[in-house]
Amino acid sequence: MAQQIPLSSPDITQAEIDAVVDVLHTPTLSIGPRIESFEEQFTKLTGRRHAVGVSSGTAGLHCAMVAAGVGPGDEVLTTPFSFVASTNCILYTGARPVFVDIDPKTLNIDMTKLAAAVTPKTKAIVGVEAFGHPGGMPELEQFAQKHELLLIEDSCEGLGGIVGKRQIGSFGRASVFGFYPNKQITTGEGGMILTDDDKFAAACRALRNQGREGMSWLAHQRLGYNYRLSEINAAIGIVQMRRLPELLEARRRVAGDYITRLMTSRYVIVPTITEDISMSWFVFVVRLTDLFEPEDRDSIIMQMRAEGIGCSNYFPPIHLQPYVARQFGHKPGDFPVCEYVAARTIALPFFNQLQPRQVQIVCETLDKVCETTLMKHGKRM
Ligand SMILES: *Cc1c(COP(=O)(O)O)cnc(C)c1O
Repeated sequence: MAQQIPLSSPDITQAEIDAVVDVLHTPTLSIGPRIESFEEQFTKLTGRRHAVGVSSGTAGLHCAMVAAGVGPGDEVLTTPFSFVASTNCILYTGARPVFVDIDPKTLNIDMTKLAAAVTPKTKAIVGVEAFGHPGGMPELEQFAQKHELLLIEDSCEGLGGIVGKRQIGSFGRASVFGFYPNKQITTGEGGMILTDDDKFAAACRALRNQGREGMSWLAHQRLGYNYRLSEINAAIGIVQMRRLPELLEARRRVAGDYITRLMTSRYVIVPTITEDISMSWFVFVVRLTDLFEPEDRDSIIMQMRAEGIGCSNYFPPIHLQPYVARQFGHKPGDFPVCEYVAARTIALPFFNQLQPRQVQIVCETLDKVCETTLMKHGKRM
């Protein structure tokens, strides 16, 4: 088989390795100075008052939902086109996720469809920058203010991105980042909650640490969790955040290589970026054009994988995930734009060390596989 090109790969240097070794030489492996420094890097970047480090993006979203007072009987508006964590955090609280279809350009919640989904039970909105695209986030924030809804920004895919003059991670009552190995920065596992609200921050600090508030280790003011971030993970994060400009630049370069190569493709559509957006690239996802049938996508992904190229179907619609569909009676056709897009997306290999030569191989293989697929339909032109 030809060269293997993985879907993603973390960017770890000797500096991260040294930082981990340094922590292991100290007695403080959790709740120490490193998480505080890591948190400070985030308040500086986003301009928020508070940052609370947690064990994952999902844990951060869960804390944010609980701190927002979301619970049984509440409805929370959100997007069906995302990684499942943005809906799971709603389900954990016993609240009901109410999906709103997406805008085919930004792949984020369609603002024109939002008002119709609001009911007297609506309490909050979980907004997501799909694939790091912040389009519509300022409008979503205005909508939340107007309707007195609490906006939680699931910014897990957009670290370092800017819309207008606003950083991703600065919208709504709170924002949450995640540091799984495929994200813009990684700590192995980890997350960060950001907010300007003192009470909200205090609640999140207590929730991540078994409901402890104040000095006593065995006084639990409320039901909490163990969502702490270890000093080992924080040490990796500090170095990654120091390297953020370099990491984002590397991603911009790879995305640029793909866009240059694929802009004129008959087979795929590349992401739409407008001028008011400084994109932070999380993944590189293309969409098959209407030359293809929805069934073609999975077969194209399988053929690419057979050629040694990591590809994925980001994201299957959340409302059609079996456990969500069962609980809320969703069926195909409920959110047609999301379903149309989701049936045609292909995430291509995307990571900092991806070389122009490898981008070339990926694109040539994609062309070949797409061409063969069309020939099968007798659609070759
Ligand atoms: C990555 C991600 C999360 C958080 O993921 P963790 O693996 O828990 O850190 C949440 N929401 C979205 C949209 C994500 O992409």
